[in-house]
Amino acid sequence: MAETYQLFIDGRWRPATGGATLPATNPYNQEIHAHIALAGAADVAEALAAARRAFASWGRTSPGARAKLLDRLADLIDADAERLALLETTDNGKVIRETSNQMGYAARLFRYYAGWADKVTGDVVALDQADTAGLALREPYGVVACITAWNSPVAILCNTLPAALAAGNCVIVKPSEHASVTTLEIARLCEKAGFPAGVVQVVTGAADTGATLTGSPLIDKVSFTGSPGVGRAIGAAAAANLKPVALELGGKSPNIIFDDADFDRALIGALAGIFGATGQTCIAGSRLLVQRGVYARMVEGLASRAAQIRLGDPRLAETEMGTAANAPQFDKILSFIAAAKGDGARLVAGGGRASGPGLDRGFFVEPTIFADVRNDMSVAAEEIFGPVLSIIPFDEEEEALAIANATPYGLASGVWSQNIDRCMRMMRGIRAGVVWVNTYRVAAPQLPFGGMKDSGHGRVRGHAGILEFTQTKTVFIDYSGDRRDPFSMKF
Ligand code: NAD
Repeated sequence: MAETYQLFIDGRWRPATGGATLPATNPYNQEIHAHIALAGAADVAEALAAARRAFASWGRTSPGARAKLLDRLADLIDADAERLALLETTDNGKVIRETSNQMGYAARLFRYYAGWADKVTGDVVALDQADTAGLALREPYGVVACITAWNSPVAILCNTLPAALAAGNCVIVKPSEHASVTTLEIARLCEKAGFPAGVVQVVTGAADTGATLTGSPLIDKVSFTGSPGVGRAIGAAAAANLKPVALELGGKSPNIIFDDADFDRALIGALAGIFGATGQTCIAGSRLLVQRGVYARMVEGLASRAAQIRLGDPRLAETEMGTAANAPQFDKILSFIAAAKGDGARLVAGGGRASGPGLDRGFFVEPTIFADVRNDMSVAAEEIFGPVLSIIPFDEEEEALAIANATPYGLASGVWSQNIDRCMRMMRGIRAGVVWVNTYRVAAPQLPFGGMKDSGHGRVRGHAGILEFTQTKTVFIDYSGDRRDPFSMKF
């Protein structure tokens, strides 16, 4: 029977004021597998008040105590990983082999930031003023609003939640209306781990709920993962309250293959870049730039490999590609495919809705490849967020760099070459937050991740990830006994 999830506010589970709910639909078979509460303004206000109360003590909790809770939560996620992965797959159609990995990664991130909780150091600085101690302290912001997207709810949440908590912030999470259940499950585990009431809260709902939360002056910082359009709206709302925002937005990432690359590895990297996660990933290598010497062979190799990708029930281990995660996304992908055909891009694989045994009730899209694409066609210029690859030929290295950077986005990129000088030049020349050299779609808790240009600003993961949730406080301590001139600043 479909479970009804409630809001998690101030350590209690309760329905939304007024009782409104939204259905959670399995994109593989269109069955409603859960209902989530639709939080309104009164619910958000209650969560904000609870977070402010909780911060008064949580912000002063010892780092050791925070680390212990984060470690305990990591253990609980590990213990529940199989069920969580299955739920994620049911909620957004992502294949189980990926969601299983993501749960392990989520637990790893909580452990990683448990380790950072007692290592957030400031500076003690020698000053020009005699007998004056100078300190630069790192303190939590207070209450963080965390808005997440539907494509990888738990993995996205765990990019920010562990770091924000380790730094001493309270967090109110608003997951996507298209995939909320695993975030609520993580909240259940937070409760089980023993986080105090109000430290982690979840208000589910759609855009209005998110806008109410991020537009509140009671928020101290906003962390947003989603589309650039919504990122702009959230940035503007937060700016009206003079609140800082970290934005993890979309991408149209170039994956660049040179003639001198290891051909087979590059081909696998191109596939991973666009068909991993059904292309519904911010880091999708959706523009494949291929040098002329290997262009025809690469197009042919990819087209033939794409046709063999196993689509099917995302809960099965052998399935390689799942569904589009929801109806609007499915329609959007198909409309970009139609536009590319209209623009004259050469279709070499897929090109429409996938059908066949086990596929007809799901939002399945064929792994689709267009060759001879121009960078200004909409299929190459705009983020599709689906299994649609644009292949663009190039002759020279400078040309590849120019095409790679000719996009408002700057999230990720890949370079395939066995020439180290060229790899170094490309690595420095590409304007993107991540450059993968002879690999693609690799993530590590230890290294920062985030965008340049319209792909956002701020960083998650790594040392930078915890600093993102702290602000600096400067302290002067004068032990000179000096009777100073009160009418001149003491420089
Ligand atoms: P979206 O921007 O439509 O929605 C994201 C979240 O914002 C949802 O929870 C939504 O309810 C909420 N929201 C919508 N309007 C709002 C408003 N006015 N105020 C406050 N909240 C509001 O994005 P999506 O369709 O859920 O996700 C896909 C996008 O996310 C893609 O662009 C993708 O590249 C991006 N993404 C980026 C990263 C990254 O780390 N850079 C990771 C995953 C996804």
